[in-house]
Amino acid sequence: MVQLYLDVPSTLDKAAKTFEALRECTYATKSLGSSGQTEIMTCDCGKTAGSDEVMCGDNSDCINRLTSIECIGDRCGCSGDCGNRRFQRHQHAQVDVFGAGPKGFGVRALADIKADGFIYEYTGEVVDQARFLRRKRQYEQQGITHFYFMMLQKDEFIDATLKGSIARFCNHSCSPNAYIDKWVVGPKLRMGLFAKRDIAAGEEITFDYNVDRYGAAAQPCYCYEANCTGWLGGKTQTNGLALPPLVADALGLTIEEEEEWQSQFPKNQKRKDLDAELAESLPVKPLDVQDVSRLMAALMQQKAEPWLSRKLVDRIFVSQDQSVHIEVMRMHGYEIFASLLTLHNAEEKLAEKVLQTLACWPQMTRNKISSSKIEGVVKGIAESAEDSGVQEQARELLDAWSALQMAYRIPRRERDASKDAASETETTASVPDSPKPTPVSRNTQARLPPGWEQKTSSNRTVYYINAKTQETSDRVPDQRELKRLREVQRELEAEKEREAARQALLREEREKQAEILDKIIADAVAAEVINVEAESTPPSSVPTPGEDTPHGSKKPVSLQKRYTILLAKYVPKIVWRYEPQLGRDRCKRHAHDIVRLLVEKELKRENLEVPDELTDERKKKVRHFVVPYMEKALAHYLKKGKRVADGKPSDLTAKRQKA
Ligand SMILES: [Zn+2]
Ligand SMILES: [Zn+2]
Ligand SMILES: [Zn+2]
Repeated sequence: MVQLYLDVPSTLDKAAKTFEALRECTYATKSLGSSGQTEIMTCDCGKTAGSDEVMCGDNSDCINRLTSIECIGDRCGCSGDCGNRRFQRHQHAQVDVFGAGPKGFGVRALADIKADGFIYEYTGEVVDQARFLRRKRQYEQQGITHFYFMMLQKDEFIDATLKGSIARFCNHSCSPNAYIDKWVVGPKLRMGLFAKRDIAAGEEITFDYNVDRYGAAAQPCYCYEANCTGWLGGKTQTNGLALPPLVADALGLTIEEEEEWQSQFPKNQKRKDLDAELAESLPVKPLDVQDVSRLMAALMQQKAEPWLSRKLVDRIFVSQDQSVHIEVMRMHGYEIFASLLTLHNAEEKLAEKVLQTLACWPQMTRNKISSSKIEGVVKGIAESAEDSGVQEQARELLDAWSALQMAYRIPRRERDASKDAASETETTASVPDSPKPTPVSRNTQARLPPGWEQKTSSNRTVYYINAKTQETSDRVPDQRELKRLREVQRELEAEKEREAARQALLREEREKQAEILDKIIADAVAAEVINVEAESTPPSSVPTPGEDTPHGSKKPVSLQKRYTILLAKYVPKIVWRYEPQLGRDRCKRHAHDIVRLLVEKELKRENLEVPDELTDERKKKVRHFVVPYMEKALAHYLKKGKRVADGKPSDLTAKRQKA
């Protein structure tokens, strides 16, 4: 029987005099209370034009809300009507302080509160471990009997003893109707009270003080329940389980399973002493799609214990169901993994598990990889991990990612233009990496867009069909989603066409370039051939080289041209020796080909210095390339000549034999 305190007078004014009200936490040092999120995480909720629904709300499929992250700023498509900014907007439930008998002050609901509704932020002064211990001693010396310390995260505490919110007056219960939850609000992690079930107006709001039992200081308890130990938190806790509830829940462990695992090690063993073997023995179960958001929320908040994070990642890794991985990617997978790797950068076992998991994600575009900044983090591992296997894994992943392309900028889905005219209309990350898994919908029929019907096939699977277009879908064809996917598809097709046109242009350009180079080589080779001829023939027969040959040109030319000119000075001299056997035209052609090959080789070496003349050593190298090349060409030519001459030695063969 739930007791209601409707007629008890309010003691809010009296209570308010006992502490200083803080709308938001204060921080002893800047770095305290960090959420570890450096990048703003955006949801992909969008508004259907004309609708007045609240976005990112209770029943929405908002990936931020589902992973305990508040939407921030105007990067989401929801900035105006977002229901997921409750901490930022101080959207507290209607509550009041009253005299709760022996427990002192208590907090009661003034109106009904729905399950999971936000009740109040737990504010106070965020302090580190050293300050926490100092303050505890200090308060004891001052005769303060009520401490209001809550563990925010490892070695960080919210002290609401002197400053805070009325959430500090919430009492403990062994059968509470509220729970403490931590939310990522931009750079900070914030703590609040949420309804565990529907709460009626007049009910006292209570929560289990032991949720943050690890590191929590022992404090007197005034609940007087039958199972009360008289103290809360600290060492007095007798039947606690070893795993933080959030993590146990995210691992999908039942209390029995956790107890069984725990029974393997001595009762009083501290968690720090857990050896690797026991950590390994904690069972890991594959995930279901609907459990992904809880696991991702736990991953983001579980900062203290790398081995627990590893277990959570392992749960993703062992899941065979591809839709689980897709859902993890959607639930800020890259961002959360990037911050995990950054936070625990010395934990190579964790890194290994994260890399293994990343490697099995379907990757189609660079967008999420790029926006999450995970590439830089993985690069760091590839360069400095101690374990060469982990390094190798990181490198392989980077290789795979480097082959991916960004999806192009496309317009964000339709927005209410009148309300949102000035806001950003484009986004780089609107192309989904892969199809979304079926969202859990509480009201499937009502959400079907016009023209769509739900059907059941002969093997009893549900599918959806549009009678007009004959389109079918095996998932709920949410109108917004369909429209967006169609838009994305159209845009991708248009982009494909544009890309093809770009490629054609590029090809043309390259061909033109090649033609020009061919001409330069041909000219240069011809000029050299002529020079060589000039050395051995009377000057009268020397034609004047054209004014436009590269030799005479002093214009700045590309690396490729300069190498061509350099090599064209020397190569034909060697090739020319084969003129008696091969003839002038063939030699010119071979010289041309050889110069081109050698220039390509030079360019691959990426040497930016092109000498004016080849050194003797380089000349020798060139000779060692050209001579075998020409010998082969000659052998080939002679063989062909033989075939043509039907076994009879040709004139050319005879010439060669004489030479
Ligand atoms: Zn949202
Ligand atoms: Zn939102
Ligand atoms: Zn108690």
